[in-house]
Amino acid sequence: MTTPLLGLSLPELAQALAPFARERFRAAQVQRWMTERRARSFDEMTDLPAPLRAALGERFVVGLPEVEARTPSEDGAEKFLFRLADGAKVEAVFIPAPRRRASGTGERVTVCVSSQAGCALACAFCVTGRMGAGRNLTAGEILGQYLVVAREKGFGPRAANVVFMGMGEPLLNVANVSRALDLLAAEVSPRRTTVSTAGIVPGIRELAKRERRPNLAVSLTAAEDALRTRLMPINAQWSVRELFEALEEWPLETGRRVTLEVVLIADVNDSPEAARALSRLARRVPSKVNLIPLNESPEWLPGLARPADEKVNAFGALLAASGVDVTVRWSKGLGAAAACGQLKGRETPGRVLRVPAPSVRS
Ligand code: SF4
Repeated sequence: MTTPLLGLSLPELAQALAPFARERFRAAQVQRWMTERRARSFDEMTDLPAPLRAALGERFVVGLPEVEARTPSEDGAEKFLFRLADGAKVEAVFIPAPRRRASGTGERVTVCVSSQAGCALACAFCVTGRMGAGRNLTAGEILGQYLVVAREKGFGPRAANVVFMGMGEPLLNVANVSRALDLLAAEVSPRRTTVSTAGIVPGIRELAKRERRPNLAVSLTAAEDALRTRLMPINAQWSVRELFEALEEWPLETGRRVTLEVVLIADVNDSPEAARALSRLARRVPSKVNLIPLNESPEWLPGLARPADEKVNAFGALLAASGVDVTVRWSKGLGAAAACGQLKGRETPGRVLRVPAPSVRS
């Protein structure tokens, strides 16, 4: 039985390596190989003595996930389907940097990672939610998605934004997500990291205690309780009022805002009344609204359609006219698939599962 080293803090790594390496600097050396240098195995760590590499190989593995499939898209995005050590499947998405500005300054690429294999929250517009609950990913499994994408796409430290918007609800796995954020901080500044939640209020409060907080995004989708509960059953546990109380207390540094994500579904939440209700709510906290026209999936989301572009524009214009900062994510490719709830973790559709939202309220 081999133990993964990815996900251990430096002191934990030093403790694990102590029986095999007398020199104290070996732990930092191994960690640098695993992260900055994206090594997959101890054999690649060529400045470690060969006997040490052999000894480590007998007891440990780095612990990167296996790439089972890659799906590139025309817009330069690429989806990675990973198989974890126990056979669970999760997805991550690489999104290329926006085009270079006239000034020549390039933007960063984005990596969207999963935090759970599956999701129990059963949002109506979500493909992952149709799979039902899965297990929490470890910090190493979360970090590993980023590292494999970085290795395969050839980018180094400080070149990426990382968004926790893949499969699963990050704040139902807050301990491992928090540890992954700590480990990622050497590569990606917290200002370049975003955690997206469906509205797990205790998780938001827990994350708020961190000294170096990521950006916060909330998958809101509807401003009124009745409609939001229909689309996002978790709203029955933490209402819009409770969610916004937590957002009002979220400690925002100067210049930072909360992102409110709204998946727009034709004739469900795209009316002028829905826009006005959203506008009233959005103005309660420093925020920007991200409109995401539904990424249709007739097989997984039967009966749900993407609104016509004019309707999306009209919805956005209403918000903008009331002073809300709003953007529309028009991408129909994998860039759109990186939105919360648009990943499915398997290559072919399977049985559609309908699971009730879990009782996660403490
Ligand atoms: S939208 Fe996010 S929280 Fe909701 S079911 Fe999908 S993955 Fe879970």
